[in-house]
Amino acid sequence: MTVDALVLRAVDYRESDKILTVLTREKGRLTVKAAGSRRKSSRLASPTQPYCYSEMVLFEKDGRYSLNEANIKSQFFGLCADIEKAALAGYFASVLMAEPEETPGGEEVLRLALNSFYALEKGLCPQTVIKAAFELRYMALCGYAPDFAACAQCGETGRGGYINMESGVFLCESCRKAPSYGDKYLDKTAAEGAKYITSCDLKRLFSFKLPEESLALLGDFCEEYLINKTEQSYRALDFYRSLFS
Ligand SMILES: [Zn+2]
Repeated sequence: MTVDALVLRAVDYRESDKILTVLTREKGRLTVKAAGSRRKSSRLASPTQPYCYSEMVLFEKDGRYSLNEANIKSQFFGLCADIEKAALAGYFASVLMAEPEETPGGEEVLRLALNSFYALEKGLCPQTVIKAAFELRYMALCGYAPDFAACAQCGETGRGGYINMESGVFLCESCRKAPSYGDKYLDKTAAEGAKYITSCDLKRLFSFKLPEESLALLGDFCEEYLINKTEQSYRALDFYRSLFS
């Protein structure tokens, strides 16, 4: 079986093997054994590094996969050379570890991952933009896109307001004057940014600019929303945050 696969995690196993968690276009997340890949002379040494994207030839036996051959398509070396980038990439990878195993339809998620790693490595835009866009777009792909288009009560568009973390319902500032439990405030520009992230062409995902204050509101919201919906805490995220404290 041939798959396009991005390595999310590589764990050392026995003397010279690795167990990989990969995100594939064809079958979602897979666990793959890469025998001998820790030997320096191994032709699998490079493609089994974290964040390497390859065409992989897998051999399947009794539902277990092993790696036979890999042709590298992209390698995001720059991610590992910078501690902030490495930390943020590590967080993205740990979020993606929740992708369903052996399920088709992973194409969009894989594209989101590749675009995010690329933008992060090249420094195409601020990390706060990449992080917020990754988090909220991923939630949208998981079927949790909040509806920012209009206030759920009065139907007005183009206003700031409160989004409820549990229900994803958005109420404008006039309809909800004070936040209730689980509400997060987004000003008008931050709400527009959120709407853009969930609906734009993936190729233009990071092509938005917000004033600093709105971006901070949006960033807070995207992070909290993902943590709330996935019901997980991420050590990689704690580490990333610790770099700025
Ligand atoms: Zn309203």
